[in-house]
Amino acid sequence: MKEPQIRCPHCAWKPRAESRWICTPACGTEWNTFWTGGVCPGCTRQWENTQCLACGKVSPHKDWYHYPEGEGQARIRRKRVPATA
Ligand SMILES: [Zn+2]
Ligand SMILES: [Zn+2]
Repeated sequence: MKEPQIRCPHCAWKPRAESRWICTPACGTEWNTFWTGGVCPGCTRQWENTQCLACGKVSPHKDWYHYPEGEGQARIRRKRVPATA
């Protein structure tokens, strides 16, 4: 399985290992949100949206992941399996 590229959907900024997000106004934990898929390690809150540290825009966390194949970002292809009873 290929690793997705992580970058801001707006400005294409790539988070670094030392980038930190803060869980606020909840518990105040600082961590790298891409290591946990948007889950705060302090209070286990799932953050649906992630703010870009470069341009300041907020985007859905999943929109940050760009998979090498299939260009279009929010397009998830599912194989349709006919339901067999
Ligand atoms: Zn928290
Ligand atoms: Zn950005």
